[in-house]
Amino acid sequence: MMYSSRRKPVLYFKEDRRFLPWKCSVVKLFGLCMVLVLAAPTADDPSWGPHKMALLIPFRERFEELLVFVPYMHAFLNKKKIRHKIFVINQMDHYRFNRASLINVGFLESGNDTDYIAMHDVDLLPLNDALDYGFPEQGPFHVASPDLHPLYHYKTYVGGILLLTKQHYHMCNGMSNRFWGWGREDDEFYRRLRTAGLQLYRPSGITTGYKTFRHIHDPAWRKRDQKRVAAQKQEQFKMDPEGGLTNLRYKVESRQDLTISGAPCTVLSIKLECDQSQTPWCLLS
Ligand code: UDP
Ligand code: MN
Repeated sequence: MMYSSRRKPVLYFKEDRRFLPWKCSVVKLFGLCMVLVLAAPTADDPSWGPHKMALLIPFRERFEELLVFVPYMHAFLNKKKIRHKIFVINQMDHYRFNRASLINVGFLESGNDTDYIAMHDVDLLPLNDALDYGFPEQGPFHVASPDLHPLYHYKTYVGGILLLTKQHYHMCNGMSNRFWGWGREDDEFYRRLRTAGLQLYRPSGITTGYKTFRHIHDPAWRKRDQKRVAAQKQEQFKMDPEGGLTNLRYKVESRQDLTISGAPCTVLSIKLECDQSQTPWCLLS
């Protein structure tokens, strides 16, 4: 006899033989689920650090790009354990596009639970996981550096993607509101950084060069408004020492929480105001 009498009887019925492995795998499956739930990156995890970014997208009529951008960035930042909230600052007035004013609005409307901003073009996707999107404690951090941006390679370029602590953005009085139409507002902001005595930082050790970002921008389809109306020709190169957060004028027409393929964002629809005696070029005609 193989079995000693002291030994507990082994379950030996046909039904049990079928039942046991099943029960076993339910328990295992449950265990596996628990492990996955606990191991999945969540923003409650203290290893994500204390900081939270307000990702500000200056926006008008780039719907297809937005549908790609929001889910992509949400996943990218989660992977990097960057707490974040995405704001789409949608310009809905009938003036020319004003990227800088929209970033100012985003800064003021982004709430107290975020302590740094990323001004972020909707059409630039970071492809390299090694890019730093963390709290830019030391000074403004230019993610889309001229060594990496596919188009802009001059050394004072600060456009595309720039991270700043809210304190540093405030020290600059934000961006100038005088730039209507495409361009130059970022170059003016470079001078504000200098004036505020802030040191600019850029990524180092990134080996992907001009392939670091995907720029979803067909210039024939998404035309840049490069018209220069009257005095704008000269004014575009001037610094605006007075204006910024302090003379910004706007209305929030709506605030809507959206999810795009499961990724959350808040759309702020904004009517900017324009003082036509100051910047008559906010209109084209
Ligand atoms: N943008 C927009 N609608 C416009 C013009 C610009 O949403 O009509 C926003 C968008 O986030 C875009 C950014 O402003 O990525 C910079 O504009 P653009 O891509 O034309 O500039 P580039 O850097 O390609 O010269
Ligand atoms: Mn672009």
